[in-house]
Amino acid sequence: MSKTIVLALGGNALGESLADQMVAVQSTSNAIVDLIAHGHHVVITHGNGPQVGMINVAFEAASQTYAHSPILPMSVCVALSQGYIGYDLQNALREALLNRGIEKSVTTLITQVVVDEKDPAFDDPSKPIGSFFTKEEADELIAKGAHMKEDAGRGYRRVVASPQPIDIIETPSVRALLDAGQVVIAAGGGGIPVIRQGNHLKGAAAVVDKDWASARLAELIDADLLIILTAVEKVAINFGKPEQEWLDFLSVADARRYLAAGHFAKGSMLPKVQAALHFAESRPGRKTLITMLTKAKEGIEGKTGTVIG
Ligand code: ADP
Ligand code: MG
Repeated sequence: MSKTIVLALGGNALGESLADQMVAVQSTSNAIVDLIAHGHHVVITHGNGPQVGMINVAFEAASQTYAHSPILPMSVCVALSQGYIGYDLQNALREALLNRGIEKSVTTLITQVVVDEKDPAFDDPSKPIGSFFTKEEADELIAKGAHMKEDAGRGYRRVVASPQPIDIIETPSVRALLDAGQVVIAAGGGGIPVIRQGNHLKGAAAVVDKDWASARLAELIDADLLIILTAVEKVAINFGKPEQEWLDFLSVADARRYLAAGHFAKGSMLPKVQAALHFAESRPGRKTLITMLTKAKEGIEGKTGTVIG
């Protein structure tokens, strides 16, 4: 049966560098084409951690040269990362589709995600991005209004807020492309965070979590399934401990219980399980599959991965 699927790609689907990404998108695309060849309608979302960091660092470095280039607002960094990652992915996907005899257009949508300026995340920016600074450099930047935090003994980094995605502006465009049988790449890097000001959308100094944005998109386009592809085949409780247990299925009640007991690490598995739970609760029947890229096909067939909902 053909399903509408939001497929969220984790960091390992794209690699850590320019060269990595060029290679990684090929195997990533082959795995995605497996799903499309099955008749599924697929919207692809993706993370942008290393890429947005690279863009931020590059412009920061350039601003310190005679070129005096501007330091880019975070919203613009995310927009650039969507364009760059989208280009590599849509290029590789097109080729992988053609190699399988499938003629489908692939489009990357620059996507804006509405956040609330009163979101408590803005009072406590906590997501580290970009390059490392010494304490002295950090103090200078803090005096100029930057938010900086010490990052795990490695030096000081800029931190940005990670507010909740409320709405996705380009939802009707995603729907229109899906209805036309095309493949869509949207909400890259969690989407460009924007704040509503009447008809104006103002870019926000934030990065939206890609797992949360993907779940929101799945909800808005009424997807049958959210698939979060990451570095592990299944979700575990007691992760990394001797009594670790991999889960095939996680009910809403169990997910809540395990969340409260702290089984999922902040910044990695926690947002995935939270987003999956949110999607499941948005309407009965909505499910999330968490597994590895190479296991996506088997996961849909119910042979592996963790299903939440
Ligand atoms: P992505 O780029 O796909 O979002 P993350 O590194 O953010 O990847 O999250 C996936 C990682 O979460 C896994 O590689 C694993 O090391 C870690 N993780 C933390 N807690 C758990 C858990 N309870 N079960 C499985 N993996 C977990
Ligand atoms: Mg992650």
